[in-house]
Amino acid sequence: MITGDLKPVEEIANSISGFDHVLVLGCGSCVTVCLSGGDREAKALAQELARFRYYETFPPVFQKETIQRQCERDLIETYLNVPPETDAILSLACGAGVQTVSDVFDTLTVIPALNTTFLGAADAPGIWREKCQGCGDCLLEITGGICPVGRCAKGLFNGPCGGSQGGHCEVHPEIPCAWAMIYYRLKKQNRLHQLKAIHRSKDWRPGGAAGPRERRRTGIGGSPGDTA
Ligand code: SF4
Ligand code: SF4
Repeated sequence: MITGDLKPVEEIANSISGFDHVLVLGCGSCVTVCLSGGDREAKALAQELARFRYYETFPPVFQKETIQRQCERDLIETYLNVPPETDAILSLACGAGVQTVSDVFDTLTVIPALNTTFLGAADAPGIWREKCQGCGDCLLEITGGICPVGRCAKGLFNGPCGGSQGGHCEVHPEIPCAWAMIYYRLKKQNRLHQLKAIHRSKDWRPGGAAGPRERRRTGIGGSPGDTA
């Protein structure tokens, strides 16, 4: 999932001061699961932001809404009713959601309430960890299902840096060394020989080095290239 953290409330209040009617918009997908931007968080944020203490004059009038996914234009156009008096939308989605809402309602100011952080997973209750950097050419089968791009502090692709101490990373001793984890995982699977294989250099273009990426799929109604 994509994870995000709520910005400091004072920063959000500063962003919306000057607007009269603000729609606080939660997102029902990733940020609901990571407890930062769902319906419950949108309601709590609207209540907090209604306090006079954050403003020199009056707080804006707030309305609250949540849609299933802010990163889908179709869903926004079909299900999101923005009250006519609204002059700003405060989005609790990730950056992709904020931009999609902004594209659909391009006469309104859309303000991010979250800092989008990473693509990760919940490893334990209340603990999310980065797992993937969307490199566009997944090689997890070589590394025992542990990503060296997202989980090694140096993003090393061909083995450890040599600074690992006791299984911990030399850059951030509080996190495990990704390459130590890869070693022990492959050992458990009797596949240590994979570490000796020489792999081709990684092509970083699918990972974004060639500019913004686009994914196309034909065969679904209305998709580009469909002639039916
Ligand atoms: S190898 Fe690339 S696609 Fe696979 S998990 Fe790592 S960053 Fe993500
Ligand atoms: S100690 Fe391990 S995780 Fe840290 S930078 Fe070196 S190889 Fe990467």
